Amino acid sequence: MNTKTIRYFDHNATTPVAREVVESMLPYLTDYWGNPSSAYGFAHQIAAAVEEAREKVAGLIGAEPKEVIFTSCGTESNNTAIHSALAVSGKRHVVTTAVEHSATLKYCQWLEKRGYAITYLPVDKEGKLDLHQVEEAIGPETGVVSIMWANNETGVVFPVADIARICQSRNVLFHTDAVQVPGKLRIDVKEIGVDMLSLSAHKLNAPKGIGMLYVKKRTRFQPYIIGGHQERGRRGGTENVANIVAFGRAAEMAVERLHEENTRVRSLRDRMESELVRRIPHCRRNGAAEPRLPNTSNLSFDFVEAEAVLMLLDQVGICASSGSACTTGSLDPSHVLTAMGLSPMQARGSLRLSLGCNNTEDDVEYLLEHLPPIIQKLRDISPLNPQHPDNVGYHVASSRGRDEGASARLSTNV
Ligand code: PLP
Repeated sequence: MNTKTIRYFDHNATTPVAREVVESMLPYLTDYWGNPSSAYGFAHQIAAAVEEAREKVAGLIGAEPKEVIFTSCGTESNNTAIHSALAVSGKRHVVTTAVEHSATLKYCQWLEKRGYAITYLPVDKEGKLDLHQVEEAIGPETGVVSIMWANNETGVVFPVADIARICQSRNVLFHTDAVQVPGKLRIDVKEIGVDMLSLSAHKLNAPKGIGMLYVKKRTRFQPYIIGGHQERGRRGGTENVANIVAFGRAAEMAVERLHEENTRVRSLRDRMESELVRRIPHCRRNGAAEPRLPNTSNLSFDFVEAEAVLMLLDQVGICASSGSACTTGSLDPSHVLTAMGLSPMQARGSLRLSLGCNNTEDDVEYLLEHLPPIIQKLRDISPLNPQHPDNVGYHVASSRGRDEGASARLSTNV
């Protein structure tokens, strides 16, 4: 299988590297391979390319170039932001949410084992946050509030400008994981008033292994990777020049793509979602319809296991996922969906379909042709299905409407 033979519905996991992006980075692997920190002219032009890329990435988020620190990935950026805020403040409490990416959650859990207090704010059944709870969670020992901008599994968008206002009024640093946002929503760090913001280039058609952390000027900062004087002493390690240049080019393209993502891609996603819900009984969207990333749809299919659905989709060349790629292989149901109140069984029957600018109407038609029969086929053989002869553990209270959700109709004794 290769990119020509697959139908790709997993852009929240990673995106294809754009041809223009590959072309921009190639010279920095072939002719201009020097170390940007070296003293001779050959290296100076490489350092200049890094600075040009920094300007482009800063442009994507409305920042000043010197506020951009290149990192190795979104995970490093999130870890760095939290680490730095705690180190400079000397405080020992973090406010975050129960639905963050593992790049934040696992770091917070690690801190918890070392005696830090972490508040994991809950979400409601639509995946939304209660701002009063954000406000109430902040106390004198809070060193940082780290809350994602858009959820990678459901696409639900949090009100980051409101959260930033709360944090400002309480004099606490606010970091947001915006890894899923560029190219989908406009980003203006000054308008939002955020102190730190993470991005990862592979979510915007650039290679893997390059990310960035925005740190508002005059914010006290403690590096996470300690070494050389690179990145103005804020992140040691020789710069990943070719990837940084690629990130710069991809940042320019992400700005240009905003309109298409919010028109063509959004309407493809909406058609796909409404047709799947219409054609497949016991199928529901997980998470609020709005505000939501224009490319993301998370759907529950009762009486099936998403892993089985994904295997059958794979056989017909469709790539999708059951949640975050970083938790694939884990037997646990999605922490995002269970935090929204789905039962483990409902969460295990959920698929994430995330589109991108490369998707066509033909891709959506292909998915609509293949997914409904796959669900039907699995339900026909599934003991989870109330109609299945081997089903002893479940029964359906017959006459309820579809919209109430099959979970309400299932009474389980297993
Ligand atoms: N945060 C979010 C919301 C993500 O979706 C991801 C990647 O899936 C990350 C952080 C981690 O980014 P990276 O893969 O660059 O470490």
